Amino acid sequence: MEKSVKIQDMEIKYEIILRKVKYWRLEIKSGKLILITPPMFKDHEKIIEKNKKWIYRKFKEYESSVNEAKEKKLNFKRSEENFKEIIHEFVKKFSNELNVSVNRVYFRKMKSRWGSCSSKKNISINRYLIYLPENLIEYLVFHEVAHIVELNHSKKFWAIIYSKFPNYKDIEKELALYWFAVRETIIDNQ
Ligand SMILES: [Zn+2]
Repeated sequence: MEKSVKIQDMEIKYEIILRKVKYWRLEIKSGKLILITPPMFKDHEKIIEKNKKWIYRKFKEYESSVNEAKEKKLNFKRSEENFKEIIHEFVKKFSNELNVSVNRVYFRKMKSRWGSCSSKKNISINRYLIYLPENLIEYLVFHEVAHIVELNHSKKFWAIIYSKFPNYKDIEKELALYWFAVRETIIDNQ
């Protein structure tokens, strides 16, 4: 069921999903508020009411990210071939630097992350990365290769990232903004 609530200047639509869960929880997915509750639960409006502040803050954050993302220019000129070449070059360079070996590199269309690395030392690269500036591609590849040294986002992992990209927090933010841009311009229009 879809309902809506007015919080200050915002009219926020939300969906209630009944699921066999122990406790209720609120989620925001692609700019939509979702309330997941156990099937017998009845106090939906109370939860929304009690969490108005949090919901409002989250939606403001989302709104400003979407606006900031509008200024991000996607690169439509890079060829698939060139893109793969860039990736492979960076993989080679960074696996040398970090003294590790990458097993395989996969290219996939992914909807929730820019890349991933498995315990089998395989790296997956999101195909949508093709539209991003080269410095972000460079960072992403380094990030995934560093996962071969340290699989989790542990302190040790971030120390490796920091040694090469002291401004990695800004880069991660950029990547998140580009994600909005790619979603708005490409994925939602497919
Ligand atoms: Zn990671």
